[in-house]
Amino acid sequence: MDGHALHIQSREADAGAGASGYLTIDLAALCRNYRKISKAVAPATAAAVVKADAYGLGAGQVSRALHAQGCRQFFVAHLLEAIKLRPLLPNDTQILVLNGLQPGAEITCANANIVPVLNSLEQFRRWSFTADKLGRVLPAVLQFDTGMSRLGIPPQERSALAAELKTCGNIEIIFIMSHLACADEVDNRQNADQLAQMRLIAAVFADLDICFANSGGVFLGGDYHGVLVRPGIALYGGAPTAGRPNPMEPVVGLDVAVIQTRTAPAGTRVGYGGKHVTSAETRLATIAAGYADGLPRSLSGRGAVFYDGVRLPIVGRVSMDSITVDITALPEGTLSLGSLVEVLGPNQTLEDVAEAAGTISYEILTSLGRRYERRYR
Ligand SMILES: *Cc1c(COP(=O)(O)O)cnc(C)c1O
Repeated sequence: MDGHALHIQSREADAGAGASGYLTIDLAALCRNYRKISKAVAPATAAAVVKADAYGLGAGQVSRALHAQGCRQFFVAHLLEAIKLRPLLPNDTQILVLNGLQPGAEITCANANIVPVLNSLEQFRRWSFTADKLGRVLPAVLQFDTGMSRLGIPPQERSALAAELKTCGNIEIIFIMSHLACADEVDNRQNADQLAQMRLIAAVFADLDICFANSGGVFLGGDYHGVLVRPGIALYGGAPTAGRPNPMEPVVGLDVAVIQTRTAPAGTRVGYGGKHVTSAETRLATIAAGYADGLPRSLSGRGAVFYDGVRLPIVGRVSMDSITVDITALPEGTLSLGSLVEVLGPNQTLEDVAEAAGTISYEILTSLGRRYERRYR
C-alpha cells in the first residue's frame, strides 16, 4: 500500500470515530525498510534501535514486527526501557542498553537477561564483579569513544581494559561498538577519522566483532558495516542522509481533526499575542493538536497542514492543544467539524515538518504526543 492509499483509507475509516488525531503506523513499511537495510549490509546483519519507545512508535509493536523479519538485537537507551521490553520478546533476542549501567543496577540487569553496553573501565569492573558474585559468565558489549566525546571508553582507558579483559574469565564480550557523530553527512571527514580509530581499536581487541553504523552509517558503504548495524530513524522512514533523496518508505501518518471553522474579515487577529492579523477576508480552521501533541511552537506562522494536496498554512501561534490554519485555498464548505487534515503523509514528510520547525526528524518523531489514537497497519 503506498502512502497516499494509506492516508485516504485512514481518513475515511475514521470519520465519526471521535478521536481528534490519528497516528497511523505502517508496520509493513517498517518491515520493508528493515529488509532493505538488511539487503544493503549483507553479509552483516541489522539490529534495531528501539529506544524512546521506538522513536515514539511503540517499542513492543515495532520490535515484535521486526523479530518476525529475523531481527534479533534490539538497542534501547535506558535499563528501564529494556526491562519493559524484555517480556515482550522471545529469549532468542538480545536487548542491549546503550547508555550503560548505573552503579547498583548491575544485579537487576543481569537477572533480567539484559546486555549492558559498557562505556568505561569502571562499568566493566563492576560488571565483572557482579559476574563473580553471581558465579556465572555475563555478556556485555564494549563501546569505545572514537571522536564524539559522548559515551564510550575513552582512548586513555583502552590498553588497561585490553589487559584486564585478557585475565577476566567471567565477561563474554559479544562485540565492540562505537558511534558516528556525522554519519548523515557523506562528505564529512570525521567519518573516515572515526573509522580509522575503530580499526586501531579492533587491532587491539583482535577477535571481537564490530558494530559501528547507525542509519547514516549504513549508507556510507561496506567499510562502516562491521558485523552488525544499528539503524533507528531509517527504519521509521526518516532520511538517513542529509541532502539526498530518502531511500526509505514512510512509516508514519498523522491526521488531525478540524474542531472549528470560521470566516474572519480583514484585520482580524488570530491566536495568542494577536500577532497574526488577516490582510483580507480569510477562512480559518482550528485543528485539534498543538505543542502538547508534539507540534513545536516554532511552527507558528511557518508550518502547514494539507487537505487533498492543498497546502493550508499555519497562522498565528501554535497553542498547547490546537493550531489555526488558513483554509481560504479550499472551496468553501470543504472542511467542517470532524474533517481530518494531513500533518504527516503523502504531501508532507517528517523532514518537511522538521525543517519548518527548525529541528530534525528525530525530534518531531519522538515528540509525537500520547493523545493521538495510534493505529497499526
Ligand atoms: C540512537 C542511536 C542509534 C540509531 O541512530 P539513527 O541515526 O536513528 O539510526 C545507533 N547507535 C547509537 C549509539 C545511538 O545512540
